[in-house]
Amino acid sequence: MIVVIGAGVAGLEAALALARHGIESLLVERSARAGGRAATYSCKALEEECQACGACLAGQKLAEVLECPLVRLRLHTEVQSAERAEGGFRVRLRQGDSQEEVLAQGVIVTVGFTPVFPARRGEFGYGHLAGVITALEAEAILQDTPEAFAPGAQVAFVQCAGSRDPAAGIPYCSRACCLYVPKLARLLAAVSGAQADVYFMDRQSYPPVYRDGNQGLRYLRGMPSRVFPLADGRLEIRCAGPGGDQPRPRAYDWVVLCPAMTPAAGGAELGRWLGLGTDARGFLLPRADSGAPAMAAGACTGPVTILESVASARAAAAEMACRLAPGSPSRPHRASSPRHSGPDPQFRLDAGPGEC
Ligand SMILES: Cc1cc2nc3c(=O)[nH]c(=O)nc-3n(C[C@H](O)[C@H](O)[C@H](O)COP(=O)(O)OP(=O)(O)OC[C@H]3O[C@@H](n4cnc5c(N)ncnc54)[C@H](O)[C@@H]3O)c2cc1C
Ligand code: SF4
Ligand code: SF4
Repeated sequence: MIVVIGAGVAGLEAALALARHGIESLLVERSARAGGRAATYSCKALEEECQACGACLAGQKLAEVLECPLVRLRLHTEVQSAERAEGGFRVRLRQGDSQEEVLAQGVIVTVGFTPVFPARRGEFGYGHLAGVITALEAEAILQDTPEAFAPGAQVAFVQCAGSRDPAAGIPYCSRACCLYVPKLARLLAAVSGAQADVYFMDRQSYPPVYRDGNQGLRYLRGMPSRVFPLADGRLEIRCAGPGGDQPRPRAYDWVVLCPAMTPAAGGAELGRWLGLGTDARGFLLPRADSGAPAMAAGACTGPVTILESVASARAAAAEMACRLAPGSPSRPHRASSPRHSGPDPQFRLDAGPGEC
């Protein structure tokens, strides 16, 4: 039995991939619901055409987990400690007031990331100017009160707002924003008729995203230095172009900032218990140096998109299965009589067990 810690898309996929190898898992999620961040994002389909944002994978994988007899999902549950025992780990879990100890043959950590709100929040007015929000808050508004984006609203997206800022201690790129901003901005435009400008410094290359040009969005290269409140309640951005030309003021109703994806809170401590190190940014390394059966996958190993998170979870599960296969020092328990005949054939097509 393998313990998988964190039931976002990575944890759900790790548990499902282990099941495809015939391995049981206990999937531990500390919050009240599984699916992680992806489960909170809107579908970005436009006129019923899928925009390949990946958000629906959270719901799909959760539905498969709930059907899978080899995966036990525990919500509201946290790992209190873990230590090496009998070739694997003794893991102590806490669910409310009750505690439990399980002996696992391996552990896969998929605790995801912590969004850090813009370091330059002072200059951008985040937290004190109405209308300055993060992309996560824009997602929540779109789901709960989309009418808040009035018809014809002018919206500025500021990419890299929380990332690529050595002075703020986040010198690295968060990788997913160049993918989600155009999809989110176009959905917003479709829902409310908003006109969106996107301030950017560079664009990560996701060819399918930009294949059809800018798709009604206006891209402005440069990092705004400040957001100014205007007398009519709107927000003014002044941004010099790449050549350092005179900043040109533009007025908006909303300014949407992209948060940085930083290491999950508590991830490093879990890593220490399991022998998983961290990289220079504080993200977990994907496997233990000591050869202990501990692995990490998804956004707790670095900023990734949903599809990348799923792919890394699948790879971690395949590697775990190989390590624990016959001939290896410890072997996982394989359930003798699964309640169903195997995974969905569609799933088998794109996600067969990895080669050992
Ligand atoms: C604003 C924004 C929009 C984005 N939009 C997109 C998009 O459209 N498309 C895309 O491909 N990517 C997008 N991303 C990136 C995407 O969110 C990540 O790729 C994805 O969520 C990573 O999944 P994960 O399972 O690794 O982590 P998470 O989604 O963070 O899930 C981790 C899970 O682990 C749980 N957990 C944490 N610590 C513990 C613990 N100690 N014990 C038990 N459980 C724990 C958490 O509660 C959570 O359920 C976006 C990112 C941001 C910031
Ligand atoms: S991938 Fe995204 S846009 Fe496509 S159906 Fe799923 S949630 Fe909707
Ligand atoms: S993914 Fe794009 S917007 Fe996000 S930090 Fe990297 S370059 Fe900036």
